[in-house]
Amino acid sequence: MYCDTKNNTNVFMQNIITDLLASLRFAKENVRNFPDLYDEFAILKEVISKEIDSEVLRLHDIQKVLDLLKQISTCFKSRKITGLLSMVAKHIYVSKLRTQIINSIIHLIHAHVSICSTKTYKNAIIALQYFISCLKEIVDGFLERSVNIVCLASNDYFYSPVLKKRNNIILSIPARDLLKLWKWVLMFHELGHYFFELKKDEFLSRFRESVSPIISDSAPTGYASISGLQKIWEEHWLCELISDLFGTYLGGVSFTNAFVVEVFQDNPARYTTHPPLDARMYSQLKYLGSVCNKVFAKDLNIIRSSWYEFRKKFPSTYLAYPFTSRILDEIIKIFNEVVGNPPFLNFAHDILRLREIINENKIDLIKNGEYKPYEILLALCLSKQRNNLIVNSQLLKIIRADRQL
Ligand SMILES: [Zn+2]
Repeated sequence: MYCDTKNNTNVFMQNIITDLLASLRFAKENVRNFPDLYDEFAILKEVISKEIDSEVLRLHDIQKVLDLLKQISTCFKSRKITGLLSMVAKHIYVSKLRTQIINSIIHLIHAHVSICSTKTYKNAIIALQYFISCLKEIVDGFLERSVNIVCLASNDYFYSPVLKKRNNIILSIPARDLLKLWKWVLMFHELGHYFFELKKDEFLSRFRESVSPIISDSAPTGYASISGLQKIWEEHWLCELISDLFGTYLGGVSFTNAFVVEVFQDNPARYTTHPPLDARMYSQLKYLGSVCNKVFAKDLNIIRSSWYEFRKKFPSTYLAYPFTSRILDEIIKIFNEVVGNPPFLNFAHDILRLREIINENKIDLIKNGEYKPYEILLALCLSKQRNNLIVNSQLLKIIRADRQL
């Protein structure tokens, strides 16, 4: 009877493997049929293909183990075989999760390929890729040069590290924002997630050293779970705040201008896995106040006063625990020490000149190759023409043409 049970389990697991192998075949077929849209995308396709192949190999290995267990099940004690079968089940489950991830990337790419079938969107994606690849020079050392960063169009902004071990990272932009070039600077926050992962050990150890004691010492009396709070800080909030700060480090006031439009919500004190908007705006404005020179002082004042004017209209408590200014200031200090001077300051002159050109609607004065997309987009964000879709489309043409140089 024991033997039958074990054999049934064996057959049951073989069935699951057969199903997973079919899903992986489906994924492989899809990858093969996707067009090679542009270099970064072709590399991503190759990497996914390799990922599928290794998953198939792993499942075949598991199959061999199951076959072996079936053969030897009569020779060993039932308990031993049962233990081995439960270990195999764990491996199959991990494989199932990996197959699900592969299929969710396939799904994402399907949407991307379909969006790219429109020429304007495809041009926008290629220009966006160029914008991101230029950043590697600007923040030399903070983004690994060898990593393939692929921007996909979907329905939201996000960062996905699922192929990081294969040196590929995926950034997503909502298709609705592809032709609004001024919103591309929001990708800085997503890149910030990657930056945080690269520097995670350093940030966590500094956080534990100087922020965790403040969180414990300043907790209101009777506060229930400080350890639970520390955990959420380390798993979610710290990463989000560092990604925001990385956004302002790269984009200056331009980033915060775009950020506040995108992240707007009715209750600025509400928090989830993301810190409240109050804390996110406070950190960015405080950081900008500490690094911005005279050149950007006026722009900073405009966003600062409009934000605080808006904030006054809400009765909810401002920067309540666990997002007090004392905690946030310490995080800003840590960030500043890790990154040093922000790069946008080195391009202040170009950004101001470009803003003037964009404001006056004289885009034809911008010659191909004269400016990098970085300066152009930072200037656009600060310009009163940023919502002008014709201006956005003219700038897109310039950036797209530069990619071909
Ligand atoms: Zn985020």
